[in-house]
Amino acid sequence: MALPTLNSQQQDAVGLFPAKTAFSMALTKADFKIFQDRLQALRARLRGDVEDIRDGAFGADDGESRSPTHPAELGSDNYEQDFALDLIRNEQETLKEIAVAIKKCDEGTFGQCEGCLVEGKTQKQSVIPKTRLKEIPWARNCVECQRKAEVENY
Ligand SMILES: [Zn+2]
Repeated sequence: MALPTLNSQQQDAVGLFPAKTAFSMALTKADFKIFQDRLQALRARLRGDVEDIRDGAFGADDGESRSPTHPAELGSDNYEQDFALDLIRNEQETLKEIAVAIKKCDEGTFGQCEGCLVEGKTQKQSVIPKTRLKEIPWARNCVECQRKAEVENY
């Protein structure tokens, strides 16, 4: 499964780290804290998005009668709701990944590639580059392992 990535709006919300930290490989405790804060902010935001999508597509009951009378209108409503369900599913998948990443920050294993560790590499060799973590803070794998995993799934 391809990991979801942040759109540019979400990247803005997460914020960028100072460029000079981009090339230091190993993550420090301070990094864990930064990423955990970002992940928690992102989680709050995504949860809000899910509620907005749900309200938008299925209507927060405002007491006003909105029952569609025209078949075409009915059709477009269903299409919108299908689309909204897809979006919600997507975001819930992302929320799950975020929860895992937040837990890893607590455990001190955040930012290590699961694929590399399985291959028997040391923790130092399994560090996911910060540039990737900025883009996908909940990434479980380095780019190479992610690519391998995606090829195996097809
Ligand atoms: Zn890897």
